[in-house]
Amino acid sequence: MLPTSQVLTTRRQFLNSVGLLGLASSLPAGRLLLSSGSTVQAASLSPSVPSATIRNRAPLAPSAFYLLPLGSIRARGWLDEQLRTQANGLGGHLDETWADVGPNSGWLGGTGESWERGPYFLDGLVPLAYLLDDAILKAKTQRFIDWTLDHQAASGMIGPSSNDDWWPRIVMLKVLTQYQELTGDPRVIPVMEKYFRYQLAELPGRPLRDWGKFRWQDEVLSVIWLYNRTGSAYLLDLASLLHKQGYDWMAQYANFQYKQRITADFLKLGEGNGLKDLALSTHGVNNGQAIKTGPVWSLVSGSEVDRVAVLKMISELNKYHGLPNGMFSCDEHLAGLDPTQGSELCTVVEYMFSLERSLAIVGDPALGDGLERLAFNALPGTFTDDMWAHQYNQEPNQVECSLHQKPWTTDGPESNLYGLEPNFGCCTANFHQGWPKFAGSLFMLSGAQNSDAHDGLAAAVYAPCEVRTILRGTAVHITEETDYPFRGTVRFTVNPAAPLSFPLQLRIPGWAAGTTIAVNGQPVQAPAPGSFARVDRTWKAGDRVEIVFPMSPRVSRWFHDSVAIERGPLVFSYGIGEDWVKLRDRGMTADWQVFPTSQWNYALNVDADAPTKSIRVTETEVGEGPFARRHTPVRLSVKARKLPDWRANDGAANTLPPSPVNSDQPEETITLIPYAAAKLRITAFPQLKS
Ligand SMILES: [Zn+2]
Repeated sequence: MLPTSQVLTTRRQFLNSVGLLGLASSLPAGRLLLSSGSTVQAASLSPSVPSATIRNRAPLAPSAFYLLPLGSIRARGWLDEQLRTQANGLGGHLDETWADVGPNSGWLGGTGESWERGPYFLDGLVPLAYLLDDAILKAKTQRFIDWTLDHQAASGMIGPSSNDDWWPRIVMLKVLTQYQELTGDPRVIPVMEKYFRYQLAELPGRPLRDWGKFRWQDEVLSVIWLYNRTGSAYLLDLASLLHKQGYDWMAQYANFQYKQRITADFLKLGEGNGLKDLALSTHGVNNGQAIKTGPVWSLVSGSEVDRVAVLKMISELNKYHGLPNGMFSCDEHLAGLDPTQGSELCTVVEYMFSLERSLAIVGDPALGDGLERLAFNALPGTFTDDMWAHQYNQEPNQVECSLHQKPWTTDGPESNLYGLEPNFGCCTANFHQGWPKFAGSLFMLSGAQNSDAHDGLAAAVYAPCEVRTILRGTAVHITEETDYPFRGTVRFTVNPAAPLSFPLQLRIPGWAAGTTIAVNGQPVQAPAPGSFARVDRTWKAGDRVEIVFPMSPRVSRWFHDSVAIERGPLVFSYGIGEDWVKLRDRGMTADWQVFPTSQWNYALNVDADAPTKSIRVTETEVGEGPFARRHTPVRLSVKARKLPDWRANDGAANTLPPSPVNSDQPEETITLIPYAAAKLRITAFPQLKS
């Protein structure tokens, strides 16, 4: 990263400064085919120089926390390995095997796909490339960025001239803000300024429609980002116009009406109503993006009601469509509480992004709990371990992944295959943002009002990493060593360049009663679950903080009074035997069906009030690929009996028998593994009568 004070006036200077000048000119214009796993590191990149966090500018309301400038946080341990897996899989090679983001992309000036897929791909590839400091991935992103920045129309419009849809440009604006933070490229801000002035003039005559109308809040984030840097007053007018033309999500959730499975008949999809308001307001991805609407708009409105609207939205979605993997059902419209319903991968990563931004603005630790639940369960659960294939829809009770119509509300028969673009290619392009943005959200700046006097750092979600930032002019480096979420111990080493007083806030999850914190070996006051614990002291180089979260198994209750077993932020599943059958090759990857090779119809004998009595925990070493089934670092043993009448039909488990249930079958001890490790699984179980 470049210091923000450094002014780079030419593209040549800029490329040279990020070590891409020689590489960019040597890249073939067409296909860049690399063998899996090969990367070239840019030797000329110097270690990151942290830049200062930019706060909200008046009259915007302050945020509770601020995301640190991209590049301040580097993944380590299993998270770094996960990012490398993504880069070595479809994440770093998609453009080599999928024409929609390949050399003929409209976002490279070609005649190919010219809508959302190029920007979607970059929204994750840009942060991934810089998190890994990978020169080839940076060069891949640079071509799209350069084309976009260098081909702005005289009017101010950006993007392919074959369409004038506002929606894909909303995604590209997200990309440009990230890229500017990472590189300081001086072209970005003038291009955004010109585009936003153009849009402010155009919107009255050509208002937001369909996708853009329902996803306007994502553009407001970019408008605010620019306002905080330039202070141009017209940007607040633009934010207000987007709000005025955009769909009123707050009204939808203030009086939530979509409490049932939303069917194609209800939406009248057969009459071509797919882009009508009813279909778009019950659409999974739109709702996942909408979760941030209240907090984002509260920065402009200053309204406390808006700020906390996110909590009501999540509670309504959980109440009527919540699933044990942390998702709400959406296949592809809201689909009710049955754990055989699916959730689309786009919704997983968009919900994560909404939670990251909402957590920063609102500062409610429950939003971090929700984010970890998605990141450690639903996200890895819907990819193959090598991230060369993904599903469109995943199910908590997923007993087969094959060509079948059941149980989706409106999606097609390929929806839960693992492949290149099952059902539809949006997720193929959009999934890339999941892990990199999670890594960028581990630490946030806290206490930042209008001055830096109260600045501190907050550990918002947990995974191994290191952070380099500046607090009141002093460089601060913190390492976080942990095998969380597989273990409960998290160790921080704090290294300010000179002794510095600041608060370190530590999120204590709602499930974590009994957490202990020690500073340099000395216990501090026991923190309350569902809070941010605050350690305020003068930090010196080498100071150590250790948190120990209790990792006792817990029982949660779901559809038809079924039970799911959790431990820390992980949800556990019975891993059904899997037979992977290749359906067809797809370029560098393939589409797979997965068929069950064992029975799965178990009811559990657990005491929900005293789960540790009936659930035994076995820990083994946390090795490579901790989400993979071949060596899961934690397993649970529990007593169970089969329910012979609970069967599958058309590849989906029949409706869960309401609990409690009886069974005359012999008692067995079964093993539960982390949700993500079981690609065929039961997660919500009937509970045996005690
Ligand atoms: Zn999708």
